[in-house]
Amino acid sequence: MSAWNLPWSASCLCGQVKMRVTAPPMIAMACHCRACQRLTSGAYSLTLMIPEGGLEIVEGEPVIGGLHRAEIQHSFCPNCKNWLFSRPQGRPFVNFRPSMLEDSSWVQPYVESCAEDRLPGAVSGAKHTYENFPPPSDYAMLMEAYARDGARPA
Ligand SMILES: [Zn+2]
Ligand SMILES: [Zn+2]
Repeated sequence: MSAWNLPWSASCLCGQVKMRVTAPPMIAMACHCRACQRLTSGAYSLTLMIPEGGLEIVEGEPVIGGLHRAEIQHSFCPNCKNWLFSRPQGRPFVNFRPSMLEDSSWVQPYVESCAEDRLPGAVSGAKHTYENFPPPSDYAMLMEAYARDGARPA
C-alpha cells in the first residue's frame, strides 16, 4: 500500500480560507445529484470523506451556506463563496471538496452516486456506480476496497 503523503494543503479560490488535511480519506466519491450540480455549478461534486479531526482550518473563517439545514452543514468561503466542505450532523467525518487541494491532479472518485441524475457527457471514472446513494451496508466493503486500491498522490 503506497503512502498518502500527508499532510495536504488546500485553499479556496481567493485564498482567504486555507485548510490542511492530516488524515487519509475514507473514500473518494462523485455525486451527480441535482443538489450537487447546483452547489458546484458543475456537472457533479467531488468528495473526500475525511475522518473527524483530519481537516484543519489553518486560516480564515468558513461560513454556513447552501441549504442551511441542521442535518448537513455546507461550509463556504465568506469572500469568494467557494464550497469547501460539508459536515453531516452526528457523523465522525467531514466531506471535503478535493478541488481545493493545492495538488488535486491525483484525485479520482472511487464511487459515484445518483447516476440517475447524471448529465449527458459527465464521466467521473469511478469504479462503482450507484443509481441513487450506496446502501449503508455497502460502505464497509467500499471503504476497505478504497483503502487498498484508491488513487494516491503521486
Ligand atoms: Zn449530491
Ligand atoms: Zn475564498
